[in-house]
Amino acid sequence: MVDQPIKTIAIIGGGITGLASAYYLQKRLKQEGLPHEVLLIEADPRLGGKIKTTVKDGFIIERGPESFPAQNSHVVRLAREVGMEEQLVSMKDGGLSVLVRETLYPLPKGTLIGIPMQLAPFLRTQSISLFGKLRAVADLILPRSKEKKDQSFGGFIRRRLGDEVFENLTEPVLSNIVAGDLDGISLISTFPDFYETQQKHRSLIMGLKKNTASKEHSTTRSDQQTFKAGMESFIQAIEGKLAPETFLKGVRVREIDKVNDEYVIQLNNNSTVHAASVIVATPHQASYNMFANYPYFDMLREMSAISVATISLAFDEDAFNVELVGSGFVVSRNSDYTVTCCSYTHKKWPHMTPAGKILLRCYIGRSGDETVVDLSDEEIIRIVLDDLNKTMSITKEPDFALISRWKKTMPQYTVGHKEKVEQLKKSIRTELPGVFLAGSSYDGFSLPDCIGQSEKVVKEVFDFIQQVDATPIKTVSVH
Ligand SMILES: Cc1cc2nc3c(=O)[nH]c(=O)nc-3n(C[C@H](O)[C@H](O)[C@H](O)COP(=O)(O)OP(=O)(O)OC[C@H]3O[C@@H](n4cnc5c(N)ncnc54)[C@H](O)[C@@H]3O)c2cc1C
Repeated sequence: MVDQPIKTIAIIGGGITGLASAYYLQKRLKQEGLPHEVLLIEADPRLGGKIKTTVKDGFIIERGPESFPAQNSHVVRLAREVGMEEQLVSMKDGGLSVLVRETLYPLPKGTLIGIPMQLAPFLRTQSISLFGKLRAVADLILPRSKEKKDQSFGGFIRRRLGDEVFENLTEPVLSNIVAGDLDGISLISTFPDFYETQQKHRSLIMGLKKNTASKEHSTTRSDQQTFKAGMESFIQAIEGKLAPETFLKGVRVREIDKVNDEYVIQLNNNSTVHAASVIVATPHQASYNMFANYPYFDMLREMSAISVATISLAFDEDAFNVELVGSGFVVSRNSDYTVTCCSYTHKKWPHMTPAGKILLRCYIGRSGDETVVDLSDEEIIRIVLDDLNKTMSITKEPDFALISRWKKTMPQYTVGHKEKVEQLKKSIRTELPGVFLAGSSYDGFSLPDCIGQSEKVVKEVFDFIQQVDATPIKTVSVH
């Protein structure tokens, strides 16, 4: 214990970003022998945010995120820290198909998010016409993109590989990750590597191929991992490493104001918390509301988000007349489907399904087609079953169906997003020093991106508290 003023460092939001920040902050405080208090304020009585697992009748059902890449992952590092390494389990990849119009085609081997890197399997696929293939191969001779600024991801892929590859391969594969309008989203904020690769190698196809070979990255999806008992077990493990008094659950932050050298956090139970530094790890709409008095936060009000829903359907094995091939399919917009993708969970993650059962997880909702998320459970289940029955013959009703609606939760990084976020953070550094933003609305929305932001923001908090000689707030013991 060091004899110095104790400061409160508040974290708003107990999703993976806030929780990982709390873990790394507490760890660093202990390492440095600093007595400061970490207080995480979460509106919900439960931690985890979008990470939510339901265990029902022997099924493990993910309501939100399901997995993350195993290699170079911030998730794996944190899992190791909290003793969850043994619980990691790898996906069994049976191959993904793409549904174009009414037909399922296996995704050609050697594609990276729907971008061909091996020409032979790409030239053999029937999901792309001969003209579409020739147009894509033109990438090998097209000059470098002259665009130096940010640009639309869709525009970039369409220019390099043509409309058909974009619409029937790239966009469907990304549809359940981004959910938005890929023609409107930012290349630099979502796939900066693609821009750099193409600038370096001229051809996107050849560049990705060389990168993948040199990094020894797998080009399949089999390097995905999850936790044996479900994603929420990871949240519980992180929570278990922190003292119970770290958390203020079931309390919503209404407003944050700078008063002299500290931040006054107004809560919806009419109490206040005073903090020397605040990590704001809530979705951008909530963060905007907390700082609505500060005009430079307007960027967050203007930022859009898409609604999606996941529908998990549990069946008896004999409900299907045909064998389900591979591990699922994604749907091209050129198909008359509401479902945007469907995972054969029982094949990808056998441990999540009891013997003799089948578990499918479908997504609905994407840019231009979000209202479907607001339909009743019965309507959604009927639409999904009708869609599935176009390619597979289901002879029995599901044992049960679980719908999770995620309204306005998929943040859209439109062109210019990175610059706008940098500008906002710059204004905050000047006007609200000690306040830091992190999470899925800013620098990447995957779980590794969110935890990566937590690691970064904890360093920034430390730099800040070391620089500032803040007034003592209160004296409490640190665990
Ligand atoms: C259906 C779905 C599937 C996904 N699949 C994957 C996947 O397979 N792999 C992957 O890597 N990523 C996936 N993602 C993305 C990933 O899950 C999210 O980007 C990530 O979980 C966001 O974490 P977060 O902590 O930034 O935000 P959140 O999880 O949204 O947490 C924010 C927290 O802030 C709290 N909060 C909000 N307002 C207030 C307030 N005023 N006061 C106090 N607390 C407040 C909320 O209650 C919430 O707990 C998926 C997302 C969805 C929706």
